[in-house]
Amino acid sequence: AKLDGRATYRFFEPEMDARMQARRRLELDMRQALARREFHLHYQPQLQLEGNRLVGCEALIRWQHPVRGTVSPLDFIPLAEEIGLIVPIGEWVMRQACRDAATWPAPLSVAVNVSPAQFKSERLVEMVMSALAASGLPATRLEVEITEGVLLHESEKTLQTLHRLRELGVRVSMDDFGTGYSSLSYLRSFPFDKIKIDRSFVSDLSGKRDGEAIIRAIAGLGKSLGMTTVAEGVETIDQMERIRAEGCTDVQGYLISRPIPAAEVLDFITAVR
Ligand code: C2E
Ligand code: CA
Ligand code: CA
Ligand code: CA
Repeated sequence: AKLDGRATYRFFEPEMDARMQARRRLELDMRQALARREFHLHYQPQLQLEGNRLVGCEALIRWQHPVRGTVSPLDFIPLAEEIGLIVPIGEWVMRQACRDAATWPAPLSVAVNVSPAQFKSERLVEMVMSALAASGLPATRLEVEITEGVLLHESEKTLQTLHRLRELGVRVSMDDFGTGYSSLSYLRSFPFDKIKIDRSFVSDLSGKRDGEAIIRAIAGLGKSLGMTTVAEGVETIDQMERIRAEGCTDVQGYLISRPIPAAEVLDFITAVR
């Protein structure tokens, strides 16, 4: 906001109001979206570089709004988190992803994004157990992806929840690695199975040497800690070859495939085999 010395905030009120209203509208629509079956999942394949083997897919939510069309998760997940709606939406994602993955050939796994607010809910572990049981998917084929936000107020309870998931056989990945302030210290507090190197480091690869040094360092770290390292957002063959050379184990990105509708996953799996 511009300040010209006088109390000008009143001037901005109508604009603020419009934004609040748009937000309120989105919130109301989101509250109905589950019942109206407007959410669906897309899946993005993850490839193990050694042997070019498909290891699984990440579930990514899509909202088909009757008027707005497709709404990006970047535009509604943060609001859903803020108002707690992410708990029922996240539960729907978990149940649907497990159901879908149960139709894929073993040992292909599904990775589900779990947000900080879901970790605050008491029954996350029970919900995951129930989703696994209802779908028949073995826990070892489920992976949860968490970001630093989950560990930010690293409480005893959060770590306990992560350990309980782990004991079930569920794998835990650290998403967007390197983008937060204390990615490294989180590796010390919890034994992740997988590190997902943020897309920004991969796009830095285009020619710059320091881009490669960072990828190499994270890949080395993963290797010595016994963790899989996935490079996210791989778009070109050149990027994939550099990533391979630096020692990352897996890749995910438009080069392999864009996120695809659930109904197309089995065809994709058959095509790459
Ligand atoms: P994320 O977990 O980091 O997911 C990766 C995002 O990068 C996805 O965006 C994916 O479509 C995009 N992407 C993948 N490969 C490439 C590439 O090669 N190039 C580029 N430019 N982008 C690529 P999407 O689907 O829009 O999701 C955005 C974010 O929304 C996700 O980031 C995640 O934080 C959140 N999100 C999506 N689905 C869920 C969900 O079911 N639950 C929760 N809690 N969050 C979700
Ligand atoms: Ca993710
Ligand atoms: Ca990510
Ligand atoms: Ca991200």
